[in-house]
Amino acid sequence: MCGIAGYAGKGDVVTTIISLLIELQHRGQEAAGIAVVAKSKEILTIRVKGLAIDILANDAFHKLSFSNPCCGIGHVRYSTTGGYMDSQAQPITVGEGLLKIAVAFNGTIANYVALAKEFGLRSYPGDTYVLAEVLYRLALEYGKDVVEALKHLAEYVIGGYSIAVLTSEPRLVIARDPYGFRPLTYSYDGETFVFASETAALDVLGFRDWREVGYGQILSFDGKSLEATGSSIHVEPAPCIFEYVYFSRPDSIFNGVSVYSARVRMGEELARNSPADGDVVIPVPDSGRAAAIGFSKASGIPLEEGIIANKYVGRGFIMPPQIRDSISRLKYGFIRSIINGKRVVLVDDSLVRGTTLKNIVSRLREAGAKEVHVRIASPPFRYPCFMGIDVASREELLAWRYISPSDIAKAIGADSLGYNTIESLLHAVQLQTVCTACFTGRYPFKNLTVDYLGKMF
Ligand code: SF4
Repeated sequence: MCGIAGYAGKGDVVTTIISLLIELQHRGQEAAGIAVVAKSKEILTIRVKGLAIDILANDAFHKLSFSNPCCGIGHVRYSTTGGYMDSQAQPITVGEGLLKIAVAFNGTIANYVALAKEFGLRSYPGDTYVLAEVLYRLALEYGKDVVEALKHLAEYVIGGYSIAVLTSEPRLVIARDPYGFRPLTYSYDGETFVFASETAALDVLGFRDWREVGYGQILSFDGKSLEATGSSIHVEPAPCIFEYVYFSRPDSIFNGVSVYSARVRMGEELARNSPADGDVVIPVPDSGRAAAIGFSKASGIPLEEGIIANKYVGRGFIMPPQIRDSISRLKYGFIRSIINGKRVVLVDDSLVRGTTLKNIVSRLREAGAKEVHVRIASPPFRYPCFMGIDVASREELLAWRYISPSDIAKAIGADSLGYNTIESLLHAVQLQTVCTACFTGRYPFKNLTVDYLGKMF
């Protein structure tokens, strides 16, 4: 998924961007980066492996801070193409002479290999480089105009992107793809322009008059005025429903809908669709908490925090696969007095690869649970995503390998397993048009099937 942020205005540009990135850290923990335009009009960049706070320890941090930057952008990375812990931290800087740009984005470009060939790129370690190069070349074609390039970008790209571009002019340009898969939000008061992937990041830093960037909208700030325009492509919006299920912070608003309220409604729907005989509802922290509150409310079964997450271990879903297993064992502690002798209804947001839940179910039994009934606030996750999350193959998905919930329950060691239906999920989210492809296999791109999209990677 990834998170992006940026700032142009008075005060400490570098610290403000790093603070925004810290508030977006749940969107990516592998790498972080920042690019600013110094007073000299040079673009200065720091890219580090690890967390946003690690930027402060980089040797170049003081150089950036003392360069009197007017504006900048930043990124936290969760890789969807190009491998883990590699050199693809963002922002990436491309261009030369009078047009240099730094690019950071949140999403995935599914056709990046084909695009690289079309634009004659010889080496392309992942979609970010291809996207930055394509954008730069389009800008050259349109008279060094990044806004024009962004208008036409969707004519070339298959995938999802919320993007930030910093030019050496200096200018800050942000855009959301025409489907609006990923969130992007901004605040502008006539002097200061600030943006972040999620509303919660702006709220925490005191920018409370935020707005969401519209589907296909492009915003350009040159230090004096903010101009808005739109993509050359018009499609039916398809914001990612999984942002409500898992990705976004519960204190964020996405497409005008509170993520927290949507999750509570998912839990209420789940209790009605897939009831369970239990003594206690226990959420998988933190991702299942709001849905568990809804489940408990609708079922009347008391809610308890029987599992405690170690806050110093990151989000399991966005961990590299090589360490997911061992991390999921380290991440949770169990409160025996809550669990022992009880029929536990364990609520989580989603069941994708099953690594975490299998481990939790077995640890609940070790802590004395009499029965464990797993309830999932979303439908079976059966299809890969090509628009911003790291599930590119069906073989990784538990619900693809085992079709029936009872087989999946056996695979994770639970007494029973129940899901929400796609109808109840849509009801909980309360939006007219959304992307549900990972649950339904219906991708928003006209005439493109899962097999066709899968071959692009
Ligand atoms: S496929 Fe799923 S995760 Fe990907 S954009 Fe669509 S709803 Fe979101």
